[in-house]
Formats: sequence, structure tokens, C-alpha cells
Amino acid sequence: MNEIILLKLGEVVLKGLNRRAFEDKLNANIRRRIQHYGSFHVYSKQSAIYVEPQGEDCDLDGAYGACRQVFGIVAAVRARSCPKDKDAIFHCARNYLDSELRAAKTFKVETKRADKHFPLNSMEISQYVGGLLHDAYPHLKVDVRAPELCVHVEVREKAAYVHGPSQPGAGGLPIGMGGTAVSLLSGGIDSPVASYMIAKRGVQLELVHFYAPPYTSQMALDKVIQLARELTSWCGRMKLHIVPFTEIQEAIHRSCPEDHFTLIMRRFMMRLAQAVARRTGAKALVTGESLGQVASQTMDALAVSGQVCELPVLRPVIGMDKQEIILISRKIGTFDTSIQPYEDCCTVFTPRHPKTHPHLDEVLEYEKALDIDGLMERAMANVERMTISMHG
Ligand code: ATP
Ligand code: MG
Repeated sequence: MNEIILLKLGEVVLKGLNRRAFEDKLNANIRRRIQHYGSFHVYSKQSAIYVEPQGEDCDLDGAYGACRQVFGIVAAVRARSCPKDKDAIFHCARNYLDSELRAAKTFKVETKRADKHFPLNSMEISQYVGGLLHDAYPHLKVDVRAPELCVHVEVREKAAYVHGPSQPGAGGLPIGMGGTAVSLLSGGIDSPVASYMIAKRGVQLELVHFYAPPYTSQMALDKVIQLARELTSWCGRMKLHIVPFTEIQEAIHRSCPEDHFTLIMRRFMMRLAQAVARRTGAKALVTGESLGQVASQTMDALAVSGQVCELPVLRPVIGMDKQEIILISRKIGTFDTSIQPYEDCCTVFTPRHPKTHPHLDEVLEYEKALDIDGLMERAMANVERMTISMHG
């Protein structure tokens, strides 16, 4: 097969002294993400990462797809290796990129030579291989400025490599470099997108979901587990903390004015998420709130629900329109699951006229009717934990 995967590092390159730590983290993340596809040798050299299959049974397609979803990678390409010989390089380019060479009208060859003992320099290699390709594909014109197809040749210590244009990677920073945050995952469209966006900045996520049986069904919970699983191809393996919310909702329903249900419920969610953060060492919370989207997401409501938090609350979709969020949701593959019509605990006791401009002192007054500590303690005592990984 002789095919390998070449990955280009993103912002990691800019991190100066931390670069080594970034690369190690990134390589470890890649290894973990592709282990399911066979045995690979993963190592970095000069702001590129090499992923070499160690046997014929490796699933290179699977590994390539997985690598493109690893944060910290800006570009990916598959390359064919060949002996370090100028004619072998030409034959390799011709065989490996035949369909691209047929389809293009203009091309050039660009060579990088890491092995300075190779008898030709980069320019000479490009000219030699380019000349032979030109003869083999007479329709092709050379265009060194803006060619349709750039044939890349790399001459390294062990072998030479040939590849065509690269494809974009996931961007962002390697997960684990940015600490840990607790993400509140509902079954909706927004919170999976918010989770993805924060993970992209190098943050390991702990997921929290509130469920309220029998008001919410097993199907609603399965949907959230499915969303979490879909996120793992970007966010890696995560813990999902499933927090029972029924008693809290019933208590609010019983003791608080209807127009404040959602708001007081949201304050409980933030408190509980923060308790999970304390257990797991997470340093921030993540929500899918977007300014003005619903009554509980006006600036006043956000101030009142955020008031219970000591940790920073990250709201990456706060300034985005629904359509913009949906676009990302489609791109990351969570949209179809998100739109399945199962009820969320938020929708169970929805007030007819929710308060859009709440006052904190009023809310504090209403909450006096509740045994906040007892409710929190019992919910936290019955949290279920699941490890969510991509392959079961
Ligand atoms: P989403 O599409 O993410 O469900 P939404 O627009 O429906 O968001 P809300 O239902 O008000 O908004 O929830 C706001 C945020 O609160 C969600 O984005 C999510 O982070 C969190 N959240 C809501 N319900 C739950 C839940 N059952 N479990 C965990 N987090 C939740
Ligand atoms: Mg929701």
C-alpha cells in the first residue's frame, strides 16, 4: 500500500516553548482517535505529523477521516511513499495522482528536500519530475503561480513521498491543553454546537444532562446519549453525568409562581453543573444559550440564572442566529439527532407567560420556599455516570 497520512499542525506552531507539550498532546490524541483503525506509527517532524500504517489490515480511510476531526490539525493529506530515486518519484506521482493529472489543465511540482544528501536539489527534482509528467500528460500546462494541481514531492530520510492537494482539518487546539469544562448538554440543537466550539479551543469536556422521568422518556435520554456519542468524533472520549431532576422540578412547580418556573429551574441546573465541576476539577461551565432566543435567554434572565455561578460560564453561541448555529450543527453531524422530537425536561413545566425581565430579589424570595441544599444533595447523590466513546 505504501500510503501514509500527513497532517499539518495549526496554531500549535505559534506556541513557542509550549510547542513540545502541544505536539505530544496532539500526537497522543491522534493515536487514541485512530487506534480503532489498526496499528499506526504517529510522530511529528517539522510542523508535520506522520501517520504510518503498520500493517496491511489498517483502515486508512477510517484513520484519515478521524484525523481530520482532531482539533489542532489544520490540513490533512494522504501521501504515497516510494524509493528515493528521481524516476521512482516520477512513476509514483504518475500512478498515484493519475486521475488528478488527467483532470487538471495546469500544474506544477513542488519539492521539499529534508535529506540534503539527495543528489538533486529541490528545484532540480521539481524540474525533472515536472518535465516527465509534462511529457506523459501533453494536455497539461505548467503554471507556477496558480496551478490547478500542485504535485508535492518530499524527500525525507527513509523515503520520498508524493501527494496532491491537502484538505482542511478541524483547526483549533489539541484537547486537553485548555483544561476541563462542564458542558450542559440538552437534546436541542444549540448545546451540542456550544460543546463542539469550546472543545475546539483545546478543552476537555465533562457532559451534564438533566432528566426528569417519568416526565421525560427513555427515548429522550437515548437521544442525548446519541448526541454525546456523535460529539466524540470531535471532542474525544467524555464522561456523561446524568442528573435526576424530577424532584427539583416538582418542588418548583409546587412552590413557585408559574412565570418563574423556567428561570428557577435554570438556576438549579447551573448550581448542579457547578457541583459536577467541583467533583471533576472542571474550571468553567458551557451552555448553548443565545441572547434573546427564548425568555430565559434575555440579558436580565441570563444575569439571574448566572448569578448562582462562581465559575465562568462560557456561552460560545451567545451572539449567533439560529441559522448560523444550525449550519455548524449540520457540519458536525448532530443536527439530525437534535431535531428528533423528544421532550426535554425544560419543556415539561413550561410557563404560559415566562418572565423575560426577572428581578433577582424577587427570585431569591421565591426560592426561600425551597429546600435548595436538600434538593441539590439528593440530586447529586443519584447522578449516574457513563463513559461515552466513539466505538461503543
Ligand atoms: P438547546 O438547543 O441546546 O436545547 P435551547 O435553545 O433549547 O438550547 P434552553 O432549553 O433554554 O435553550 O437551554 C439553554 C441551555 O441550557 C442549553 O443550551 C443547555 O446548555 C442547557 N440545558 C437545557 N436543558 C438541559 C438539560 N435537560 N440538560 C442539560 N443541559 C440543559
Ligand atoms: Mg433546549
